[in-house]
Amino acid sequence: MSNRKPIIAANWKMNQTPTEAKAFLEDFLPRFPEETAVDIVIAPSFLSMPMAAAQIVPSKSVALSAQNMSPEASGAFTGEVSAAMLKEVGTSYVILGHSERRSLFGEDDAIINAKVKAALANGFTPILCIGETLEEREGGKLEEVLKSQIQGSLADVSAEQMVNVVIAYEPVWAIGTGVTASPEQAQEAHAFVRGLLKETYNDDVAAATRIQYGGSAKPENAAELIALEDIDGFLVGGAALVSESFAAIVQAGIDQVS
Ligand code: PEP
Repeated sequence: MSNRKPIIAANWKMNQTPTEAKAFLEDFLPRFPEETAVDIVIAPSFLSMPMAAAQIVPSKSVALSAQNMSPEASGAFTGEVSAAMLKEVGTSYVILGHSERRSLFGEDDAIINAKVKAALANGFTPILCIGETLEEREGGKLEEVLKSQIQGSLADVSAEQMVNVVIAYEPVWAIGTGVTASPEQAQEAHAFVRGLLKETYNDDVAAATRIQYGGSAKPENAAELIALEDIDGFLVGGAALVSESFAAIVQAGIDQVS
């Protein structure tokens, strides 16, 4: 077993109004003690973040994440949210490069790279999402796609900075579809990404970087997936909208390390 601390994150996407987020957290937070064997992260919408922060930030085991961030510091960027704004509400993590940002909002590796660097410069931990479409997988391009996403999104990020980067491998065909990658497919991709980190950086970075799996993770498959050598947690969408099911996934992580 590795000594990487599992990290389990909820990506609420454009769900949970502030009132719904409050109700979720009132149910979820008391389920876990102040100190847990895993890092738990919640990424509400921007609008729910100040309220969520009031409940989350005092906790030692649960941290607040944004779902996106502008690479710019401030200025005439209508509709954008800056690092300083996120910092002020107690944000620790920022999800970047999610496949929905890539496919629906036209984000490419260059933009994601600028955001990763801005997040690191502001003391956040980016959760960098990568993953292939079904067409790319079936066309034999899995490794090529993952390599160019890793190298493009992490350009000019140093080995020292990688201590503060989490990677989420999310096969696009498994996101929100109910279809989960098989344990073999997930482990194979994670091992490949770890190999890329070794090639791009060094053995220490490859051994220390946490790589989450994302794509229809749920209570029914979490224990099997997190038991795999190179899977260090989850980025969870749909199953993280209900406190009980997200708690069950977190518990699978705790059970794995205890
Ligand atoms: C996600 O949005 O990152 C995700 C993995 O969603 P889901 O769990 O619903 O597939």
